Amino acid sequence: MGTPGAGKGTQAKLLAARVGACHISTGDMLRDAIRRGTRLGREAQRSMDQGLLVPDDVVIGIVEERLGAPDCQSGFLLDGFPRTLAQARALDELLTRRAEPLTSVMLIAVPHDEAVRRLAGRRVCEKCGAMAHVVFDPPARPDGCDRCGGRLAQRDDDREDTIRHRMDVYARETAPVVEHYRGVGLLREIDGTGSREDVSRRVAASVG
Ligand code: AMP
Repeated sequence: MGTPGAGKGTQAKLLAARVGACHISTGDMLRDAIRRGTRLGREAQRSMDQGLLVPDDVVIGIVEERLGAPDCQSGFLLDGFPRTLAQARALDELLTRRAEPLTSVMLIAVPHDEAVRRLAGRRVCEKCGAMAHVVFDPPARPDGCDRCGGRLAQRDDDREDTIRHRMDVYARETAPVVEHYRGVGLLREIDGTGSREDVSRRVAASVG
């Protein structure tokens, strides 16, 4: 868990690869549905472009389906889910049915201004999905992907007014979920400042 721009996606991918768990990012799955032009994608796009949450039943449905896949049977890491108390309750029911309770909840904490700076400068390759940052990780050619030469673009929801919405939504809807997990003793809080490698080392130390 963490505010937009905390580095959840980056760290979740690294950790999932390290421990051999399947990585379930609801944001990535929704963006993929938009790219493919599916009904789910069309439903999700309007909320996402405005920095709002996609309805709970839609997101719960895609997580439930993904958890049933063969590669998720020996451990999974959820990235960007649950984001509301209703999603947390649904997850709880789902995992109770699987007799597989959550082992831990990780919060990557980054000061608000730092998270906004990271989001506003973030660029994503339209072709291969690689990430760059105009200040912290600038590409060799402006707007060109270092990995595949594709065009780097800003995610629609990384524009400044949308970032503000996403931060408000986090404070209103997701911060109570973090407090819920803190209350039941599952929360591990990681300092998310510094380089990707610094944070990755803290994450690894925290999971042991
Ligand atoms: P992310 O890539 O995790 O920052 O997610 C990007 C956007 O996808 C969010 O701003 C939401 O519009 C949508 N989204 C991702 N995960 C969820 C979720 N668990 N519940 C509702 N909307 C979500």
